Amino acid sequence: MNNLNEEISRKLLLVLAHPDDESFICGGTLAKYASEGVQITLVSATRGEMGRRMGNPPYLNRETIAAARERELRHACDCLGIQQLQFLDIRDKTVEFMDEEPLITRIEGIIHETAPDVVLTFHETLGGHPDHCAIGKVTTAACRRSGKQDSLYYISFGNMMEQPERYGYTRGDIVKIDVSAHLEAKLTAFRAHRCQSEIDEWVWRPDHEALARFGAYEYFIHAEPTSPDRHNHYDLFH
Ligand SMILES: [Zn+2]
Repeated sequence: MNNLNEEISRKLLLVLAHPDDESFICGGTLAKYASEGVQITLVSATRGEMGRRMGNPPYLNRETIAAARERELRHACDCLGIQQLQFLDIRDKTVEFMDEEPLITRIEGIIHETAPDVVLTFHETLGGHPDHCAIGKVTTAACRRSGKQDSLYYISFGNMMEQPERYGYTRGDIVKIDVSAHLEAKLTAFRAHRCQSEIDEWVWRPDHEALARFGAYEYFIHAEPTSPDRHNHYDLFH
């Protein structure tokens, strides 16, 4: 098997809550792996239709926002190299109120279909938004039931996991991905989510100024800590 085929066989599944979670939080990592030939499937629980940002000046309303956010997400997927996108069609801001069992079963089904080598979702308590924490909780349960807990990582914000001890983790639990070569793709994905990013003036400044706002690394928490000698701290595929 040549290198190309080996790369094509790697698969990453992301289970997140809203359009833009993938770009704003871990877009550099997704662009990096996509550029290496990893097949990426994104599952978004909602269409983010209750978002308060409507563009600047506003070009959306409550009726038009769901379709627009889906369209903008598809564009962002193209920017990052995400090939597959599906929605769970849960109403925005209600993920935490859903019955967990049917949701876990659905996500188990997606894991079975996509056979991922790596699964990314939100941390159940460090997710930063009730929808994030809720989708992280059910995805974690689905991974356990599928025997995929060793492939599961939690996404994290900015460089908070430079100091994992503050959150009850050690350095051995963290994977630190160098995304410095993929920040242009991350920026185009930010801009693809126009209704969400338009109000952030820095996103629309000249590229070199906007790019300077991004960190060179994105950090992931391994859900199931393994022995330090076995685990690669710089690559999600180990
Ligand atoms: Zn979100």
